[in-house]
Amino acid sequence: MKKIMAANWKMYKTGPEAAATVGELAKLLGGRAPDGREIVVFAPATALERTAEAIKAVAGAEAGAENMYPAEEGAFTGEISPLMIKACGARWVLTGHSERRHILGESDAFVGQKTAFALAQGLRVMLCVGETLEEREAGGLQEVLERQLREGLKEIPADTAPENLAVAYEPVWAIGTGKTAGPEDILEAHSLCRSLLGALLGEKAAQTAILYGGSVKPANAGSILALDNVDGVLVGGASLKAESFLQIINAH
Ligand code: PEP
Repeated sequence: MKKIMAANWKMYKTGPEAAATVGELAKLLGGRAPDGREIVVFAPATALERTAEAIKAVAGAEAGAENMYPAEEGAFTGEISPLMIKACGARWVLTGHSERRHILGESDAFVGQKTAFALAQGLRVMLCVGETLEEREAGGLQEVLERQLREGLKEIPADTAPENLAVAYEPVWAIGTGKTAGPEDILEAHSLCRSLLGALLGEKAAQTAILYGGSVKPANAGSILALDNVDGVLVGGASLKAESFLQIINAH
């Protein structure tokens, strides 16, 4: 399985800024993702088309949306549909990011609806899961991961190809805080995710990528990527500059 090196640009970058960063990255990469790696850039909706266009200059890289609404079209002011995402030239969508769960109040059930609908519409989905500090301190890691994965994957189409689904384990206390989970924490959570996926997806679990996210930087990416059951990284802050994202993409 290729390792997935994913950027989440959150609410940063206009269309021209996004295109410029992708253009710079394309030059630095020499027009292709390194062997054994694939690159995904999740960009704001207003920059998605420019990002998808610019990323064509990198073989092995795709653009993704940070959010979508689970309907083909309709009276959902401010939302975007999978069809609109695909029309921008993007292939991926993020679901269940902790900022949407905790700031915007998305429930496990809604995340599940979005994940299933996006897959049914032909998008590749990266489902984010992870515990808050309070949940971790109360010993709730397994319960949270189990609930978020079970509800998140509840209605996915039975014929979902494993390469169209990825899970990102992102402990909420490590996102944007500069605190990275230690190797033992990452090993424990990723192994839990792998076995929970086994119970939910059967054989497909072994080929479903599990990424780590939470304050990944050029300095720690290599050691995180070397851990068992870590099939890539999802990077926020350190992906905003092409040079820093490049170092992560190339990290060993
Ligand atoms: C994220 O946005 O998913 C993330 C992990 O952010 P950061 O790398 O900034 O912690």
